[in-house]
Amino acid sequence: MGPERGSSVAIIGCGINGLFCAYYLLKEGYSVTIIDRNKHGVTSKNNAGLLTPSLPSAPEMGYADIAKASTVGLGAVYISPSQILRNISWFMSALKHRKERGGKALMSLGSRSVELYGQFLRKEHMDADVIRGVGAFYESEDDARTLAEEYDGRFIGSSDLSGMGYTNLGGGIMFDKELSINSMKLFDGLRSRVRKLGARLLLGTEAELICGNGSVEHIISGSEKVTADTYIAAGGSWSNDLLKPTGYNPMIIPARGLVLLFSTGKQRIISAPALLEPEGVAVAQHSDNLFRATSFFEFKGTKSEFSEGRKRWLLDMLESHIIKYSRLKQIYEGSGFRPCTPDQMPVVGRVPGYSNLLIAGGQCRVGVTLAPITGKIITDMVNGAKPKVPGFEYLSPARFS
Ligand SMILES: Cc1cc2nc3c(=O)[nH]c(=O)nc-3n(C[C@H](O)[C@H](O)[C@H](O)COP(=O)(O)OP(=O)(O)OC[C@H]3O[C@@H](n4cnc5c(N)ncnc54)[C@H](O)[C@@H]3O)c2cc1C
Repeated sequence: MGPERGSSVAIIGCGINGLFCAYYLLKEGYSVTIIDRNKHGVTSKNNAGLLTPSLPSAPEMGYADIAKASTVGLGAVYISPSQILRNISWFMSALKHRKERGGKALMSLGSRSVELYGQFLRKEHMDADVIRGVGAFYESEDDARTLAEEYDGRFIGSSDLSGMGYTNLGGGIMFDKELSINSMKLFDGLRSRVRKLGARLLLGTEAELICGNGSVEHIISGSEKVTADTYIAAGGSWSNDLLKPTGYNPMIIPARGLVLLFSTGKQRIISAPALLEPEGVAVAQHSDNLFRATSFFEFKGTKSEFSEGRKRWLLDMLESHIIKYSRLKQIYEGSGFRPCTPDQMPVVGRVPGYSNLLIAGGQCRVGVTLAPITGKIITDMVNGAKPKVPGFEYLSPARFS
């Protein structure tokens, strides 16, 4: 199956998920409109850029961790007590699902998505500073050895780590087939590609879904009424609010993170990107003069500004683990909001009770990794076909209805 002549799709959300949906739909011949209140991109630019399905999708937290994270804080993790009160059913559900950590289905969707990245970047001749081989490094050598077996990665010892530019770490795991990308280059490149393929982009305007009986009638975007055959909600951390008029709650709340970019004075600082697991800090050197550091997993709404104390914490972590830290000169600071579901699985598919509305959201810490596979699943569904992707049924929006 494919689109009928002139079939149209309107997507709310011009993040990486909305963009990959648009890309594959345009390739199938649909006419696509994308609406976003933000002109420049937020989370889909401000992230770590690791395409690493092997790593857990979010920190595992029990009752004691949540209590600590909401009082004194737990390193990179912080939960504001008011967020717990506001989202009590989310936190109860997260505690129930905490051992699953996304599971094997998520890993296999992620691996397939990384393959799609390879095809996409080759086909579009897009330069996104791709680096092959990503590490996860630990304070304890024993932890690294045990987890290397569990995650099927290659163990490396502390002397290898110092050769790669890292210090004060006991051991690590290398995932030789996984990738790191420059998420800003990817976002800008994909957005301009989608525009060239014919998408209409309405940026800087709020979108509101206007619903009738079991279907979306149209979108109000600024002073414009946008009508389409199919509507896709790709609103990231704002999906709950976006879908309020439908009565469906996808249970997505934001986990905030910080991105710092540094110039390196044209020095090689590290030779492989990595997640420094003791503290949840991700680092990558994209080019000979650009170094990225990200951290924090904070449930405290969508306020962008970080305190000086929190920024200092991240800089201290870099100083204690990056041998050439003193060469780094900060040039950019930005924040992003991971769209998190309580069971750490994305929500991708038809919105229950609606014939012409789909959701593509809830990818949390692996939203960039999963964006191409999300776009493929949505495109199959818009085409009226069963997605050709094993494991897509785990993402069903019906589980929250
Ligand atoms: C610090 C940090 C590090 C991360 N590292 C990684 C990583 O290494 N690997 C990885 O795979 N993922 C990572 N992520 C997660 C990843 O960035 C996100 O999961 C992903 O970017 C989400 O993309 P999205 O398109 O779903 O949402 P978004 O990028 O948030 O886009 C949603 C868009 O919808 C718009 N919108 C919502 N409602 C409306 C409305 N009513 N009207 C108009 N516009 C609306 C918003 O303005 C927004 O631009 C990280 C995230 C952070 C914060």
